[in-house]
Parts: sequence; C-alpha cells; structure tokens
Amino acid sequence: MYLVSLVYASTTSDQFQSSDVESILASARSHNSARAISGLLCFSNKYFLQCLEGSRAEVNETYLKILNDSRHKNIELLGFREISKRQFAGWSMGYVPKSSLGQELILRYSGSADFAPHQMSAESAHSLLARVSLTSPLLQT
Ligand code: FAD
Repeated sequence: MYLVSLVYASTTSDQFQSSDVESILASARSHNSARAISGLLCFSNKYFLQCLEGSRAEVNETYLKILNDSRHKNIELLGFREISKRQFAGWSMGYVPKSSLGQELILRYSGSADFAPHQMSAESAHSLLARVSLTSPLLQT
C-alpha cells in the first residue's frame, strides 16, 4: 500500500453557510475514520486549506467526493506526494479555526497579511498545517 498526502485549497460557494463547518467535520471524521484517513482542515474567512493522508486509493476516492461538494468552489490541488509517515496521525480530521491562525503564521507561510491558501506552495501549505498541529491547543479529533 502506498501512503500519500494530498493538500488543496478552496473557496466557499454561495451555498455555504457558517453552520456547514460542523456538518462537514462530522461527516469527514466519520468517513475518514472508516477509511484510515487522517488530516487537518483549516478554515479562515472564505478559504479552506485541507490535508488528507492515507492509502492512495482512499485519499483519491475521498478527494473525488470533496471535489463534487457544492459547498465550496475554486478547488485547487496544491500538492500530492508519497510519504513514509503520517504528519497528522492523531486526527481523523483536525480542525484549525481562524483563531488558531495568528498573523505571524499567516505572514510567514502565506506571504501576505491575509490568509490566501491558493497563493501558497505545497511546501508552505504543509509547513503551516504541521506548525499549527504542533502548537495549537484548539484542535479536536
Ligand atoms: P452524501 O452525503 O450522500 O453526498 C452526496 C453528494 O452531495 C456528494 O457529492 C457531497 O459532496 C454532496 N453533499 C453532501 N452534503 C452536502 C450539503 N450539505 N450541501 C451540498 N452538497 C452536499 N468528506 C470526507 O469524507 N472526508 C473529508 O476529509 C472531507 N472534507 C471536506 C472538506 C470540505 C471543505 C468540504 C466542503 C467537504 C468535505 N467532506 C469530506 C465532505 C464530502 O464532500 C462529502 O459530503 C462526504 O464525504 C459525504 O459524501 P457521500 O457521497 O458519502 O454522501
């Protein structure tokens, strides 16, 4: 089995309501646990940045579902790579709310004052998520 990591950025659609974040997380955690997928979902203003880790087949299948979800748009694949070890093993889908993304982190990894994940390289996106996962007490499994 090949273990992979996929990271993408997207923008909320007109259909999206802020209460959707909870249902997205509930659905993601239940589906991901069953498929041995781990990862983090970051949401700030109207942008999502998400990393999925797991077997290549499961990550591909889950990403296809996510691509078809009308609650977001402008879905852009930032990176897809084989990994030897999971970065977010403890989380079926950890959540990084806006409050956990300090200005210093945004400036450092996003290269601008505003969180703009579509402008990030795959490496910066991974580094930002890895950094938040190590320092934020607000993540939930
Ligand atoms: P169903 O609930 O039957 O979904 C059928 C279709 O409707 C799918 O295309 C689905 O995307 C779409 N859909 C479901 N609910 C809504 C809704 N309320 N409004 C509009 N369209 C809807 N799922 C995971 O399993 N793992 C993840 O990590 C994950 N991350 C996500 C991140 C984001 C930013 C978003 C927007 C969604 C995420 N989802 C994730 C949810 C995923 O898109 C599917 O809704 C979920 O996997 C259930 O899909 P389903 O086909 O099994 O079931």
